[in-house]
Amino acid sequence: MSAYQIVDHSYDVVVVGAGGAGLRATMGAAEQGLKTACITKVFPTRSHTVAAQGGIAAALGNMGPDHWTWHMYDTVKGSDWLGDQDAIEYMVREAPAAVIELEHAGLPFSRTADGKIYQRAFGGMTQNMGEGPAALRTCAAADRTGHAMLHTLYQQSLKRDADFFIEYFALDLITEDGVCRGVVALNLDDGSVHRFRAQAVVIATGGYGRIYFSCTGAHTQTGDGNGMVLRAGLALQDMEFVQFHPTGLYGVGVLITEGARGEGGYLTNASGERFMERYAPHAKDLASRDVVSRSMAMEIREGRGVGELKDHIWLHLDHIDPKILHERLPGITETAKTFTGVDLTRQPVPVVPTVHYNMGGIPTNYHGEVVTLKDGNPDMVVPGLFAVGEAACVSVHGANRLGSNSLIDLVVFGRAAGLRLGETLKTGIIQEELPKDSAELALSRLDKFRHAEGGSPTAEIRLDMQRVMQADCAVFRTDRTLGDGVAKIDKVYQRMADVHVTDRSLIWNSDLVETLELDNLLGQAVVTMRCAANRKESRGAHMQEDYPERDDKNWMKHTIAWFDGWGGNGGDVRIDYRPVHDFTLTDDIQYIKPKARVY
Ligand SMILES: Cc1cc2nc3c(=O)[nH]c(=O)nc-3n(C[C@H](O)[C@H](O)[C@H](O)COP(=O)(O)OP(=O)(O)OC[C@H]3O[C@@H](n4cnc5c(N)ncnc54)[C@H](O)[C@@H]3O)c2cc1C
Repeated sequence: MSAYQIVDHSYDVVVVGAGGAGLRATMGAAEQGLKTACITKVFPTRSHTVAAQGGIAAALGNMGPDHWTWHMYDTVKGSDWLGDQDAIEYMVREAPAAVIELEHAGLPFSRTADGKIYQRAFGGMTQNMGEGPAALRTCAAADRTGHAMLHTLYQQSLKRDADFFIEYFALDLITEDGVCRGVVALNLDDGSVHRFRAQAVVIATGGYGRIYFSCTGAHTQTGDGNGMVLRAGLALQDMEFVQFHPTGLYGVGVLITEGARGEGGYLTNASGERFMERYAPHAKDLASRDVVSRSMAMEIREGRGVGELKDHIWLHLDHIDPKILHERLPGITETAKTFTGVDLTRQPVPVVPTVHYNMGGIPTNYHGEVVTLKDGNPDMVVPGLFAVGEAACVSVHGANRLGSNSLIDLVVFGRAAGLRLGETLKTGIIQEELPKDSAELALSRLDKFRHAEGGSPTAEIRLDMQRVMQADCAVFRTDRTLGDGVAKIDKVYQRMADVHVTDRSLIWNSDLVETLELDNLLGQAVVTMRCAANRKESRGAHMQEDYPERDDKNWMKHTIAWFDGWGGNGGDVRIDYRPVHDFTLTDDIQYIKPKARVY
């Protein structure tokens, strides 16, 4: 492996990822006096957090009555009782202080007439433990909340002297005897390999929406951190829970807001039928997101989709007065034109249920420490390893996330990780030399793909994977689709042995880097499919038509899955379960008992 020039670095803490979660953890660790580095494959303010528009949830009560216990109730119910209630209590209690802290750090929130942070209503957010009207709980900086958050946190991290390694691609963790000791990364500017030694690594690499064909997230959402965790022999949690939004632009994935249907838009199938009237006679096109997404998937599966491949649905706005569209929906009018060439005042827009968020990820406790099921202990901490943000599964979102609860998750648990690092590490510790072969895992993959001269181009395998996931592991699942899906995704996985990499340069946008990302995605696709096939109930985002009811007796538990198939046949997924935390942290609130989830 000496072919590579290796540059060594030594830090107390290395954070991988510079989205909202990674930046908050970087800022927090640096604030604790720890020598901190942040590695990111894209410029910090280009992380997917930048696209978050709606806002960040916290029971400030600026615009009406609110209380953290009400936020807790809504989050538990939204999670369909799969969320861990100790972690949820921690998040909603800390939320108001975390938002005020952002305000003081310079985040330019929108304001009420009397100068307080502006808050809007969001789905599932209510008053009085689900009994009252909507709670105005979502704090917003116009429709640019994520953008404002990234700029604020990046500036704060720089102010605290954190070192940034920008456009560095993390390849693999360095682990020794079950302890994480660092990470290996590729500098995408000049192709040099960097070995970071650290007392602790914090993974904040975001979601893995790109295992699907259509996704509202950035192309960089390849779940690299999750891939690294699987390769390190650790498990991922609740991977079967993937949130779909009904109207992403076909083939592009860019979100078309629910407001389009709010203004009178409706969906049709290949025969021009307004099919939502059949599935939801009362609410029709404005039924809840999971219902609409499932109905669309049903039409497509039964051959009534539109387009050449019959794999999408039309969204009509062409019956609405163009003046109204211009006034109320200027953004999506432009988006539809730019990305699909459709003039929506005259033509229907091609849409498809689109992956929006990953509830599953790297299991952690509420301090951000990665946990694993070992020797019968479901909450055993993995020394030296933390995870925060969409990459992590704390689990506060359980089987379904409420809108505006992700941004608050990022800052609350990013901050918690910083505090825990401060408590458990001492700065300036002379760390033991890394084992000689510590970069081996990373370099062997690099080598393998640099010399990959098979018959299957990377882009072709990726498309194969995305189509399988979109067809067989989407909003509407049955024993048959999941059974087919398992067989098909294993075949796609096997194609990786025959991958052909054309552009092997060790720099940004090369085929090689996309192949490394695909390798990460494929492991997660296989695991997601297997975990979904194993769960014989319907809960939150996992709607299994053969088991349409939630089954608390047998299935109120987190899925834990290891992937032993690297280089093998894809089928080597080991699945176990760990109990949901049915306790709270304090006596201020009791465990919220399961009920039917109706809105
Ligand atoms: C269109 C859209 C709108 C949304 N709106 C809202 C909203 O209004 N409210 C809300 O609460 N949630 C919203 N969400 C969800 C929320 O924005 C995300 O869940 C959240 O921003 C994820 O943040 P993160 O810090 O975990 O990861 P990201 O912001 O995705 O950042 C990931 C980071 O990891 C780095 N990285 C990844 N792989 C590597 C690697 N191999 N090496 C080095 N670095 C790497 C990237 O460079 C990046 O810096 C929205 C999501 C989308 C897609």
